Amino acid sequence: MRIGIVGAGILGLAVARQMARAGAEVTVLEKEPRIAAHQTGHNSGVVHAGIYYQPGSLKATLCREGAAMLREYCAEHGLPYDEAGKLVVASTRAELSGLRRIAERARENGVPGIAELDAIGLREVEPRAVGVAAVHSPHTAITDFPAVARRLAADVTEAGGFVRLSRPVRAIRQTTDGVAVAAGPERLTFDRLISCAGLGTDGVADLARAGGDVRIVPFRGEYYRLAGPARGLVKGLIYPVPDPRYPFLGVHLTRRIDGEVLVGPNAVPALALEGYSWRSASLRDLRRIAAWPGARRMAAEHWRTGLREVYGSLAKRAFVAAARRYVPELAPADLVRAGGGVRAQAVARDGRLLDDFVIDVRGRIVLVRNAPSPAATSSLAIARHIALTVPLTF
Ligand SMILES: Cc1cc2nc3c(=O)[nH]c(=O)nc-3n(C[C@H](O)[C@H](O)[C@H](O)COP(=O)(O)OP(=O)(O)OC[C@H]3O[C@@H](n4cnc5c(N)ncnc54)[C@H](O)[C@@H]3O)c2cc1C
Repeated sequence: MRIGIVGAGILGLAVARQMARAGAEVTVLEKEPRIAAHQTGHNSGVVHAGIYYQPGSLKATLCREGAAMLREYCAEHGLPYDEAGKLVVASTRAELSGLRRIAERARENGVPGIAELDAIGLREVEPRAVGVAAVHSPHTAITDFPAVARRLAADVTEAGGFVRLSRPVRAIRQTTDGVAVAAGPERLTFDRLISCAGLGTDGVADLARAGGDVRIVPFRGEYYRLAGPARGLVKGLIYPVPDPRYPFLGVHLTRRIDGEVLVGPNAVPALALEGYSWRSASLRDLRRIAAWPGARRMAAEHWRTGLREVYGSLAKRAFVAAARRYVPELAPADLVRAGGGVRAQAVARDGRLLDDFVIDVRGRIVLVRNAPSPAATSSLAIARHIALTVPLTF
């Protein structure tokens, strides 16, 4: 079985490793000159415990399984993994019912160690944080996802597979006995093609003539980092009670594995699929996004939230205020801009932001169509899920 995989992010590499270990001849095709160039290299680095997700969904199941698999994988390969622990904080009494729902959901999802804390209890975990109550998840962890991706790539090559960089997939043709792919200067034929292309998902789907009822809309997540001694104000991870209407978790404070503390990410519409700043815009991408009825419906419904997020992006004041809600000692000078990432978020034709992971099978081609957070956490479990559930042999 020759398997081609599009994308050398954490997901493509986890799938490649799974297939190579099962004896397939695997080739990963990546358009960039390095692995983890997009979402995998631009995220918060949090190994989610599985608190928020709809019980029974792929996210709920694969996040729990994936976190356990990742913990073991990091231990086996000497990769960083630190159970820094997370607090979800209600800062007003109005947020208490939302917080209670989170605790219930976490228990339903079998997340271990969940505790409900009052205002005093939360300060025992995070002495400089304030709030009326919190949910504590002691096993939520932090890691270095690009380092994990590099180790997965090494596993692929050690198992006899190939990771080919600077190989943009530009043409795909499915025939009765294979899938022909043009990638950079190469022409290759596979028995199966698996796309884990993140922000490039629709491009690959179009090449494979696999239209569908979902399209990727890019949402940029921008960060600040805490400068100097302000880093000492946060021990682990401090999150708000999320707005249940959105799959994003709200601006939070996250200790990173290298000791930095991130504040963010927000969620602003990106002006290009790989639009890492307001200056990075693509008319072609914008036209394609605007042509999708789902994107127009979403914009019509959520424009107020969108405007608020854009204001927060342009005015540092709003970002500082969001952080000070949880750690009031923070001053504007403590926050320094720190780049960001772009989420590949699938939006349905009716304007819904798809919550769950979506995997679509078209003959010999498997397309991962929605793999936003916590897909880095879940990557090893998603790879196993694809190997177990997708028909890979005739
Ligand atoms: C701001 C932000 C914060 C996040 N925080 C977390 C977190 O804390 N924890 C967590 O679990 N998840 C988090 N996520 C989500 C997580 O980063 C992604 O779910 C995960 O990285 C998806 O991996 P991937 O391999 O599917 O995508 P990517 O890493 O984006 O990889 C896709 C690859 O496909 C390549 N590609 C695209 N088109 C082509 C083509 N035509 N030919 C060849 N190659 C192609 C791209 O160059 C890219 O390298 C966050 C995401 C963002 C943006």
